[in-house]
Amino acid sequence: MLTQIKGLHHVTSMTGNAQVNNDFFTKTLGLRRVKKTVNFDAPDVYHLYYGDAQGSPGSVMTYFPFPNMGRGSAGTGEVGESLFAVSRGTLGYWAERLQKSGVAVGNPTEEFGEKRLSFAAPDGDRFALIEVDSAANAPWDGNGVAAAEAIHGFHGATMRLRDGGATAELLQFMGYSPVDRQGPVTRYAIAGGNGADRIDVEVLPNAPRAQQGAGSVHHIAFAVENRAAQLEVRKALMDTGHQVTPVIDRDYFWAIYFRTPGGVLFEIATNEPGFDRDEDSAHLGEALKLPRQHEALRPRIEALLPPIRD
Ligand code: ZN
Repeated sequence: MLTQIKGLHHVTSMTGNAQVNNDFFTKTLGLRRVKKTVNFDAPDVYHLYYGDAQGSPGSVMTYFPFPNMGRGSAGTGEVGESLFAVSRGTLGYWAERLQKSGVAVGNPTEEFGEKRLSFAAPDGDRFALIEVDSAANAPWDGNGVAAAEAIHGFHGATMRLRDGGATAELLQFMGYSPVDRQGPVTRYAIAGGNGADRIDVEVLPNAPRAQQGAGSVHHIAFAVENRAAQLEVRKALMDTGHQVTPVIDRDYFWAIYFRTPGGVLFEIATNEPGFDRDEDSAHLGEALKLPRQHEALRPRIEALLPPIRD
């Protein structure tokens, strides 16, 4: 069993509208936009990162906005719900805040002994706020949500699968242990993880496969401390038969990717060097940042990308 993985690093999804997406995650959810850059593999598309005060690993929700992309349809073989951590006693505040912003919410429910408030983001992507005792990350209070109520980063994510067997085995190899079960959902956790260390696996043998589109999670990334730990994980995954990409420099972290047996794309990302690598931490996410390999294209990229009003 590997011990290098500490929980989630980030979750990356797709959206059909950069402006609507930006407004929802910054103004409604109160997260900090910690980076405005492009998809390094397709630089005519933004890559927007929202997180806590410093974009700590385990707090970062990211989006590729594809203008006018059609909505995905939910199903198996994907991450169905991303779980954010908030402090105890704050779900009433959140229910009211979300309703005022036109987001439909039901009553809080209790799952795995935790109070949870579920809602959909503008592309239909599913999220839940979970009340937890202590949250590892420092929240951002610069967007109208006070520190007492602000989102602390991820608690975890829910994967929906037709057959959970091979993925359960993989998660345990990656350092997760089954800790609870509720109906068709098994919860896995990493002891001593980074707080974003729960993965719920929901097995739905008869559900249709998901069709990816706006509102779908593209991949989830797991956090390792540094490049040495990442190479150890890469070797261990390859030795057990997974097809893993070479290490790719994403400027703010190094990444490797592999497709899991259940169909979900996993990434392993390093905590180093972080989002203050190329801009002052007081001004994270304000300017359009391009990786070196695309800097020469800046005038063309800036003309192509729709401006985002903050
Ligand atoms: Zn990623």
